[in-house]
This record gives sequence, C-alpha cells and structure tokens, in this order.
Amino acid sequence: MNVKPSTTAVQLKHVNLAYPEVIGIRNQVPLLDSRYVPQIFLDNAASTKPFQCVSNFLQEIQPYYSNIHRGKGFDSSFCTQRYQEARHVVGEFVGWDCERDVVIPVRSTTEGINLLANIIHFAPGQTVLTTLLEHHSNDLPWRRQAKVEHLPVNEKGQLSLDELERHLKASNGRVRVVSVTGASNVTGTILPIHEIAVIAHKYGALVVVDGAQLVPHRQVQMRPHDDPSHIDFLVFSGHKMNCPLGVGAVVGHRNIFDAATPYQPGGGTVSSVHLDQVIWADTPNRNEAGTPNILGLFALARTIQVLESVGMEAVETHERYLTAQLLQGLAQLPQVKILGESNPETIQNRLGVVSFTVEGVHHALAAAILSYEWGIAVRNGCFCAQPLLRHLLKVTKKQDLLCQEEILQGNQHNVPGAVRASLGLHNTAADIQTLVEAVTCIARQQWQGNYKQDVITGEFSPQGFCFNFNDLPGFKTEPSNSFYR
Ligand code: PMP
Repeated sequence: MNVKPSTTAVQLKHVNLAYPEVIGIRNQVPLLDSRYVPQIFLDNAASTKPFQCVSNFLQEIQPYYSNIHRGKGFDSSFCTQRYQEARHVVGEFVGWDCERDVVIPVRSTTEGINLLANIIHFAPGQTVLTTLLEHHSNDLPWRRQAKVEHLPVNEKGQLSLDELERHLKASNGRVRVVSVTGASNVTGTILPIHEIAVIAHKYGALVVVDGAQLVPHRQVQMRPHDDPSHIDFLVFSGHKMNCPLGVGAVVGHRNIFDAATPYQPGGGTVSSVHLDQVIWADTPNRNEAGTPNILGLFALARTIQVLESVGMEAVETHERYLTAQLLQGLAQLPQVKILGESNPETIQNRLGVVSFTVEGVHHALAAAILSYEWGIAVRNGCFCAQPLLRHLLKVTKKQDLLCQEEILQGNQHNVPGAVRASLGLHNTAADIQTLVEAVTCIARQQWQGNYKQDVITGEFSPQGFCFNFNDLPGFKTEPSNSFYR
C-alpha cells in the first residue's frame, strides 16, 4: 500500500521568482474539445525552453561569427577571444580550478560522459562503480571501457553510503571511477556528491558527477583539488538550463585529458602531422576535434550569466515550494503512487522531478490525457533509466521476460513506466494546481476522449483528433523569394 505522508508538514513561503522571459512558455495549444489554452510546460527535465535574452544575444553576436583559432581576420580574432572568455564563465560557474581544470564543450551530457569514458585510462581489471539510479547515459558509455558495477538503492531510490564504502573496501583498489548522478531524473533524489567523493577518494577512485539534472537547479561547486570532497569531473547540458542551443560541458582535470590520446582525433587536435607520426596538441585543443560549437558555447556562457543574475538560491527556493505543493497535492490521491521519496518534508534532498503512476491507467494514457485535454506537457515511460524503473515499479522477472519478448517482436505497448512532471523556473503555483486537478480526474477515470493505443509504439491517441502543425514554421517548399524578405 502507498503510505501517504502528512500533508500539513511543509509550510514554505512562496517567493515569486523574478526571471527573464522564457520563449514559448505559454504557447497556445489545441485541446480535444477544440479550445486553445496556454500550455503548461512540465517537461523541463528533458529540455527547457530558452531564455529570450540569450536568443537575442546570439542574434547580436552572429554577424561576427567566424571560425576560431587560426583565422587572422577581425571576426575570427573576436570569436577566438570570446570563446576563451565563455570557457571561463562556464568553469567559474561550477567552481573550477582554472589552472588544473579544463572546460571541454560538448554536445550534451551523453557526449561528455562518452568523452570521459574514452580518455580515462583503465588498467586491466579496473572497474567503474555507479548506482542503480543512473540515466543510461551514465552507464552505457562506461560499459564499453570497463566492467561496470551498480550500487543498489532502496525502494525509495536512496543510496547507502555505508554500502558504497563497503564496496570500495572490498574492491581492493580495483574501482578506478565512481560515477554518480547529481540528481535522479526519475525520482528527483539529490545525491550527497561531496560525501560520496570523500569516500571514493579514500579508496583512490576518481569521481565523476553527471550534473545533467542537478546543475540547472542547484548551485554546484567542484571544490578545491586538495579537498577530499572535490569533484574530479562534472558534466552537464545547456538544453536543460534554458540555453537555446545543443551544447554542454565537461569540467575537470587537465592532466588526465593531457595524458590521453584524443577521443575524436581530427583537425585542430594536433600540433604536427606526418604520414607516419602525429604530435597531439595540448588540452583543450586535443579534445575539440573539428570546428567546435562556437555559438553554442557563447549561448551556454550567457545562459549561465542569466541564471547567476536570477540567483541559483532563488531558483531553488521557488522550485522547492512548487515541489512541496505538487507532492502534497498528489498525496491526496490514493490511486497515485509517487516513485521514490514522496514525503514533502524531505524536499531539501530532491529536485522538482516527480514521477508517478496512476492505478489502473497506463502511463502513456495518462500523459496523453494531460496533453490532449489539459494542455499539460509531461513525459512518460522509463526516462532512459530502465533498471531503476523496473526496481521502483517492482517488475517481476516473469513480467520482465514477457515484456522483453514483446519488445523483440516490435511491440512496446506493455513496457512498464511512469508519468513524469518536472519543474522549471518559469512554473507557477497555478501550473501545479492545474496538474493536480488533472491527475485527480485521471485517477477517478474521468476523461473525455476515446483513446486507442498503438501496439508498436505504445502511445495513446484520441480517436478522431490529431495535432495539426501545418500553420507552424516548417520546411514545406516556400516561394523562393520568401527567403529574401
Ligand atoms: N543524465 C541525466 C541524469 C539526464 O537526465 C539526462 C537527460 N535526460 C542525461 C544524462 C543525458 O543528457 P543529454 O540528453 O543532454 O545527453
């Protein structure tokens, strides 16, 4: 049975967050009953919508866009200088040591962890220790390089530090890397990254933090290198922190990058090339093959400056209030089960990422109803954390085998999962109130549409209705002169 927490416990004061405009946050979206309503966007753990001022900044800087490094023109010199400045802004944001650390721009957290998995040297027999909480992107990249072991989590998705220590002690120095998420993209649980680092360092392991969820919502500091609680490598993505372009960053030990051959060899990564010999360039160039995402790094640095002006503490206070409101609202519904910790009293240890199931309603159906009947954008499924979802949903071996068989036959209709609402700085108490109202109706089996599931994709859509994107920007053939306007 789902034990409901006390709903009176948390009396947080709501402080209205002052933040610059976020583009498209109140787009009008169509509903099944032909109305149009301003969308309620609660899919921020996947991607956030961009800050208007960062988009404006890109427009201002674009006329000067030119490739960096060896260009001798004005624009190239300008972009080269700004690129270095942007790198600095990113490093400062997470408390790097500018002498000993380096910022490597990447496409995303996934690319960043793949980069680390490829440049960290593993001696035969060395392993990676991670947790059952991880996104696949902090699991699969390591599996190609070393044996990966997963620390268990309890039924609330919490990790035991004693278990971590026991494992490291028993491993006799075999663990080369402890790689953990800063916060779960399923349960919102925030991991004690600095306590984990102290333990991992005691046993000689490097500490990698997947900051994809944590960095956009909390002030994260890597701390000095000589502090045992120091984070060796931090990886995060701009698209989850209101940055308009696909860019992220890896921040960490320059000497480890220097000791490795490039993950992606190519133009820009070398000092000298002969047909039979290559001398690699120093870091960071040796890890930035080809033309980097120059505008992307500019956008990330500007986004960070905007977030700093809003204040990460203010973001945290605002999101905590809304998270407590959401947990308290869902706790009133006996049919709703929250994955992980559902007690609003523990919100200081969690982000505004709330995944839940509704008894008797498929997760894909619930997400479809929220979209088609309420204009609420959420996500459903396993959120790229299948081992964790199976654990939290208590999927039996038999159910799992059946599901695997169906997947092999191309049917996704039975895949276990949940619905996830994830907050961003633009969300309001009214958004949460509407979500709770909508979930209340779903829990009572009240909806209008006649939904059919596509057996192959597992998705539900209402009969006789589909979204029409014809009037939105796209790629249909334009009259050739329309581009000149
Ligand atoms: N780790 C976590 C915890 C995530 O939530 C995500 C994105 N959902 C990733 C890694 C992967 O990030 P990206 O899509 O930017 O590669």
